[in-house]
Amino acid sequence: MASQESDNTFSPLQLNNYHQPDTRGYFGEFGGKFIPETLIKNAEELTREYEQAKHDPGFWAEYSSLLNHYVGRPTPLYYAKRLSESLNGAKIYLKREDLCHTGAHKINNAIGQVLLAKRMGKSRIIAETGAGQHGVATATVCALFGLQCVVYMGEEDIERQAPNVARMKLLGAEVVPVGSGSKTLKDATSEAIRDWVTNPEDTFYIIGSVVGMHPYPMMVRDFQSVIGLEAKEQILEAENRLPDELVACVGGGSNAIGLFYPFLDEAPKLKIVGVEAAGEGLDKLHAASLTKGRKGVLHGAMMQVLQNDDGQIELAHSISAGLDYPGVGPEHCHLKAAGLATYASATDDKALQSLQTLAKYEGIICALETAHAMHYAITEAPKRSKDHIMLVNLSGRGDKDLNTIMGHLNL
Ligand SMILES: *Cc1c(COP(=O)(O)O)cnc(C)c1O
Repeated sequence: MASQESDNTFSPLQLNNYHQPDTRGYFGEFGGKFIPETLIKNAEELTREYEQAKHDPGFWAEYSSLLNHYVGRPTPLYYAKRLSESLNGAKIYLKREDLCHTGAHKINNAIGQVLLAKRMGKSRIIAETGAGQHGVATATVCALFGLQCVVYMGEEDIERQAPNVARMKLLGAEVVPVGSGSKTLKDATSEAIRDWVTNPEDTFYIIGSVVGMHPYPMMVRDFQSVIGLEAKEQILEAENRLPDELVACVGGGSNAIGLFYPFLDEAPKLKIVGVEAAGEGLDKLHAASLTKGRKGVLHGAMMQVLQNDDGQIELAHSISAGLDYPGVGPEHCHLKAAGLATYASATDDKALQSLQTLAKYEGIICALETAHAMHYAITEAPKRSKDHIMLVNLSGRGDKDLNTIMGHLNL
């Protein structure tokens, strides 16, 4: 193992310390802990344990070793030459999270949280999943550590993401269908929280994005910020300077904040853009919580939420299951309010088109989630100068979406 320890060691302590939530877990006006009495002990235990782990170099050595040797990090930063030249504008670089083991960035966070669960002596892991990517990532790390794994998943998502359901089962996880509400990620998350309330002693809840009660948004961000930290080193090596613009798709917001966070010192010199799902259109069904939502509480935190005038959570819609969530992580809400990042959106149709454009020019089939970020890049790059560097987070690969894609395109 001696040689493994000399590899890249990542720790969030390397990162800027002033973008932290306050002691109550708030980023500006967003975040906090809106949870039932019975969960307060859990959330406090988790906060305490994570604070200790954060300052334990041994924890990050094990985390980094798994990222390097199991996940396959660092992922490449790839200059998309043919795509950039076809657009005749900005130089587009792609951070290749699609090349992570299990096909997306979600595994970075799952590894971090399972190590924390192990450290806390928890024997049972629960998770919620939308696209199934977080479920697969969690089932994977549970197999890796021999832990019991229960994944809550909406019935509609089970149908849309059949291959990922099969993967989870092969990995030994129990997949629990959730038939309430919209039968998607929101309801799966509510079920997982209910399970945690019922089994607080032996169970660790691995949340898949920068959402939920404090300390999850901070913790998941720290685990995912390995993306931005690597990208920063890689772009300096490739171009000898920092990028001009960062782009990532936003569901809950974890791949986006993972890329953005290590660059926040450079904002506002640097343009930071998150891209939400505009679904069928912003005046129809969509999942653009930052563009169209209002402040409200969802799954334990204050955030921008899609809701009607009575405060009822509205149905979110996106062609991509991973963006189909009516809220968005509190730190993004804060970055938007503080003017440190801006948020655009892309419709289902535009995402599908952009997925095809990327495949045609670069031989990369990205996830439908990622295709929303690609749409922004493809439409904005031609408006930038040739020396403008745009760095896009390619959050995952599209294999899981083939059924959906075939349902929409005449292939
Ligand atoms: C889950 C997922 C997303 C959306 O989640 P974030 O937390 O916003 O990153 C984006 N891309 C892929 C490939 C995903 O699997």
